Amino acid sequence: MTTFVFASHNAHKLEEVQRILQPLNIRLIDSATARLPDVIETGKTFKENAVLKAVEGFKQTKMPVLADDSGLCISALNEAPGVYSARFAAKHGGYPAVFNVLNEQLKDNPDRKAHYVCVIALAMSETQVYTFEGELHGTLALTPEGTGGFGYDPFFIPDGYHQTLGCISAEEKNKISHRAKALKKLFEFLKTQQL
Ligand code: IMP
Repeated sequence: MTTFVFASHNAHKLEEVQRILQPLNIRLIDSATARLPDVIETGKTFKENAVLKAVEGFKQTKMPVLADDSGLCISALNEAPGVYSARFAAKHGGYPAVFNVLNEQLKDNPDRKAHYVCVIALAMSETQVYTFEGELHGTLALTPEGTGGFGYDPFFIPDGYHQTLGCISAEEKNKISHRAKALKKLFEFLKTQQL
C-alpha cells in the first residue's frame, strides 16, 4: 500500500479520487491529516496552480502529493472567469447571483460556449511533477436549472445534452466531467509506475 497526500479539504473530491486509485493500492490522506497549510493560488493557469499546490505539499510532507485546480472558461468573455471561478462567484454574491452577472456580461451575444477545465498535478519529488488535464465542453443556459452538482453546474449544458449539469445525476456527471477525464489519465499513468 502506497500513501499519497491529496492537497484538498474537499471530502467529496477525496472520496472520488480514493475510489479511482483504490485498485492501485494507493491510500489517500487529506490536507488536514497531513497538516498542510493552505497555499495561495497565485498562478495564472490551472496547471501553474495545481503544480504550485502539489510541490508545496511535497516540500512539507516529503510524500507524493496530488493537487488539482479547476474552473469554468467562457469563450465570449475571453475564457474568464477561468482560474478565478471560485473567487469570481464569491465576489458576485455566490450562486445563483453570479449567473445574472454573467448573463449581463454576455448581453445578447449568441456565443454562449463554455468549458470546464481540471488539471491534476502529482509531485513525486520537488522536481518530478506530472500533470493530467481534462475538459468538458458545453454552452451556458439562459436561466439556471436544477439543484444537482455544485458551483456553475445549474448554468452549464454539456455538449450532447439538453439539460444542465444541475439536472444530471452525480453518477452521469462523473462519467463525463473534466475531473473524471483528468483522473482517468492519472490512473493510466500510475498503472505504468512502480510505486
Ligand atoms: P477548485 O478547483 O475546487 O478550486 O474549484 C474552482 C471553482 O471552479 C469552483 O469553486 C467552481 O466555481 C468552479 N468549478 C470547478 N469544477 C466545477 C464543476 O464540476 N462544477 C461546477 N463548478 C465547478
